[in-house]
Amino acid sequence: MKGLMMDTPLLIKDIMQHAARCHGSTEVVSVTVDNPRHRTTLAEIFRRARKLANALQAAGIRRGDRVGTVAWNDYRHLELYYAVSCMGAVLHTINPRLFPEQVSYIVNHAEDRLLFVDPLVMPLIDALRPQFGTVERVIAMCDEAHLPQAANGPVTDYESFIAAGEDQFDWPDFDEHTASSLCYTSGTTGHPKGVLFSHRSTVLHNYAALIGDSIGCTRRDTILMVVPMFHVNAWGIPYAGPSVGTRLVMPGPKMGDGATLATLITEEGCTLAAGVPTVWQALLAHARAAKIKLSPLRRVSVGGSACPLSIMTEFRERHDVEVLHAWGMTEMSPIGTLNSPPRGFEDWPREQQDALRVRQGQPVLGVQMKIVDDQGNELPLDGRTSGIVKVRGPWICGSYYRPDEPSEAHAEQGWFATGDVATLEPDGTMTITDRAKDVIKSGGEWISSIDLENTVCGHPQVMQAAVIGVRHPKWDERPLLIVVPQPGESPTREDLLGWLGGKVAKWWIPDDVVFADKLPLTATGKISKLQLRQQYAGYVLPTA
Ligand code: AMP
Repeated sequence: MKGLMMDTPLLIKDIMQHAARCHGSTEVVSVTVDNPRHRTTLAEIFRRARKLANALQAAGIRRGDRVGTVAWNDYRHLELYYAVSCMGAVLHTINPRLFPEQVSYIVNHAEDRLLFVDPLVMPLIDALRPQFGTVERVIAMCDEAHLPQAANGPVTDYESFIAAGEDQFDWPDFDEHTASSLCYTSGTTGHPKGVLFSHRSTVLHNYAALIGDSIGCTRRDTILMVVPMFHVNAWGIPYAGPSVGTRLVMPGPKMGDGATLATLITEEGCTLAAGVPTVWQALLAHARAAKIKLSPLRRVSVGGSACPLSIMTEFRERHDVEVLHAWGMTEMSPIGTLNSPPRGFEDWPREQQDALRVRQGQPVLGVQMKIVDDQGNELPLDGRTSGIVKVRGPWICGSYYRPDEPSEAHAEQGWFATGDVATLEPDGTMTITDRAKDVIKSGGEWISSIDLENTVCGHPQVMQAAVIGVRHPKWDERPLLIVVPQPGESPTREDLLGWLGGKVAKWWIPDDVVFADKLPLTATGKISKLQLRQQYAGYVLPTA
């Protein structure tokens, strides 16, 4: 027997229309090239999205066409998010920090017809323009007065582009499985791979983002959207915020700048924020040096890499801010697990609290998980056995967009192999040991670089730490610790190795320590283990 409920399609336009009706007066604050503190409302953003949709239609954009953006977080980018997807075209968000050859590869692979580009990124796009095969027009995301120079083709400014468009647009209905946006992952090997989100996956993921212990924003909150709109749809905040009327604060090109973030938090009264750990390290270092308290902030969502305990502790002790540790990936839209403290958690002994905090948490409703060995056999959920994490669910990538070769990650029908190695408890709580590629294999046993980094980051003189495997004649690989000290501090090798003693297994203790001024970052702001491995490929350990 079939249920008798209505079968209305899950479309992003319903988020927009709901937000326009119920939360139209909600403020959106942006830092842009042409205005350091631009203020508008959701109602105005959606009005301009209708003008934009008309302009896109006049430029020949039809359903299914790809429209690229190479831009930071601001209100114009939000207008593009809604206009492009809701007219049935596909918003392709491009990370400006990718290597130039990757940018031209993905623009050509996606066959973008138009490119919307932040003026600061125009030099990159202009230089690559002769390599683009399908791009018909480039639009700079600014007004006419701020139009950047470009040598390799005409550029229109965004305001002139939308000016002629009517502010009425009849948003169409279509199948909820229609593609809405496209985001390429920058893998460590091979070409970037396209993850093609649908309206259905985006709307369902939006409900997951709105769970209390997820992004969990409300109508009373102001969220600092640090996570870039080119990194998995800014973790769904551009949809979640408008859904419930959360005030949005978008730092534009200043997303990695601790001082700007602190100013935005305090002056704009941000209660929530979301981003990768390296951003929070910069913010906390600034707050410490400037002796300020990030007062209005009550919760920070951290994901993208393992969040060191030291970040969570400093947020809690100095700023009364709770950290929500979450795990996910581009292929998962991105939310996979949430580390939600259980009832009575506040009364637990501190060590027990900390032991839970560093884990990645339980799967969010809608995501199924298992761990498997190299042969694909399912492993026990005992909290000790580690294996490759596989996931399934309605907002998880079923296959890549026009892959160059069959994807290993989709080899098992109905499951996606994440490439992360983890343990799972009987209640589903996951602890990531490593990214499979980052695991250190010493004498046939695995050493978790994440565990080591986390412990080293607890040392008061350490700002950032990374551990990589370096070739060793006897053990195949041994860990090398690379440390960025806190400003003005000079810990010694012995201090740091001594600090690890008793905290991790003896055979895990790195064979050497290297000090650095900074660590290389990936295009999404995470510490790049790949670059570190390349940099220290020939490193000779004292034990070798
Ligand atoms: P991306 O698709 O760029 O967001 O990268 C996803 C990858 O980031 C995951 O597969 C993990 O390896 C890593 N990651 C994300 N969140 C966490 C976390 N909380 N702890 C450890 N690794 C994480």
